[in-house]
Amino acid sequence: MTRFKVLSVATAIALSSTGPVRAQEPGEAAFRSLFKEMVEIDSSMESGSCTPVIDKLVARMKAAGYPADNLHVFVPPSDAKAGILVAVYPGRDPKLKPVLMLGHVDVVNARRADWTRDPYTLIEEGGYFYARGVADMKAQNAIWADNLLRYNAEKYKPLRTIKMALTCGEEGGGFVNGARWLVENQRELIDAGFALNEGGYGEFDETGTKKLNQTFQAAQKVSMTFTLEATNPGGHSSVPRPDNAIYSLARALDKLSQYDFPVRFIDANKGYFSRMAPVMGGEIGAAMTAIVANPQDKAANAVLNRSPTYHSMLRTTCVATLLSGGHAGNALPQRATANINCRVMPGTSQEEVLATLTSVIADPEIKITGGRSYMPSPPPPVTERLLAPAQKITSKIWPGVPVVPHLQPGASDAVTLNAAGIPTFGVSGLFRDPDNNGVHGLNERIRVQSVMDGRKFLYELVKAYADQKD
Ligand SMILES: [Zn+2]
Repeated sequence: MTRFKVLSVATAIALSSTGPVRAQEPGEAAFRSLFKEMVEIDSSMESGSCTPVIDKLVARMKAAGYPADNLHVFVPPSDAKAGILVAVYPGRDPKLKPVLMLGHVDVVNARRADWTRDPYTLIEEGGYFYARGVADMKAQNAIWADNLLRYNAEKYKPLRTIKMALTCGEEGGGFVNGARWLVENQRELIDAGFALNEGGYGEFDETGTKKLNQTFQAAQKVSMTFTLEATNPGGHSSVPRPDNAIYSLARALDKLSQYDFPVRFIDANKGYFSRMAPVMGGEIGAAMTAIVANPQDKAANAVLNRSPTYHSMLRTTCVATLLSGGHAGNALPQRATANINCRVMPGTSQEEVLATLTSVIADPEIKITGGRSYMPSPPPPVTERLLAPAQKITSKIWPGVPVVPHLQPGASDAVTLNAAGIPTFGVSGLFRDPDNNGVHGLNERIRVQSVMDGRKFLYELVKAYADQKD
């Protein structure tokens, strides 16, 4: 007992906040059981199915007293494995637009032989949950369902209706895409003023200890694919000619590799760089401030472009991803092609990207073709009405952490919902490690504390939005 006397106040506080006894939110045991069940059902395209995830969840919600009339299960006729659940939690004012909680229950394939632990057993080890889908995105799905069960148990009466849509097929690979299926077949049922989805998360600094921000994902880039093709009459390789399909294509790719699309700001990336400038400070913080003031600032561009993430958040990017050419080892190539994948700033059309590629490559011998011609819908505005409640709750749980708008270089189901007139934002309260937690890769993991804090955050955030008058 005398040892306590030598502990400083600071040490005592540190021990009490990091010790094994962590303050639990109500219902944590029930939540953990729901999360475990969801994670341990393989819902990968290669070896699993989304439908049992939905069926088990519905059984659980009914058993917990959630009204069966408000649970709508769909299985797209062409895909028995792509089960979907839409749950409704009625609000007091049916004239106000609902809040929709969106999630995908499918996961990227995971092979046992490559993983350290079984990918479909939820393992808690060293402060982490390990399993396929814990980060992308079964923790958030479990929190959405848990929210509804808690609201129902508490007899909470929100002003606005709260909805939850859990879908399949977001990760691609073959399942019917549930978000698209709902837009095409059950648009009225999922109608909402806006939707909350994956895609936003807390960022740590590179040491993984300091919480830098909580991102509020407000826009996503759109993927567009182009093909560059060079053709040539060819001939015998013993008599080379000056024109050569492989050389022409190589020159075109070299030009592309040296080209940077101009910086383009929308609410999401402008908000990110302005709000992160004071958080980062130093040379990077100054460059963030400078680029927002003048997107053409060469010095600021040079500093920020050292980070591939910042580089791609500032502009459209196009990169070579596949290459083929020639038909025989002793023949001059008749054809050489390259696949170019572009991640395009929302609001930029396919024609604009094609025109830029054509002028950068500036070689009429190179044929450039693109896929479908379309104009991605412009991103929804990021308003204080959305950010203020998120900031308020963030400050309560993680004092000093700013909520920052974010532009996601990849795409998710938000693209589909935005196009259908339901503005969709990514926010989770879940903090990710600097290495992105093995998402889509090996040994996917998420901090236990992060899941529990995220649960606390989203429980309050959805309530705050559901009680907003206008
Ligand atoms: Zn995901």
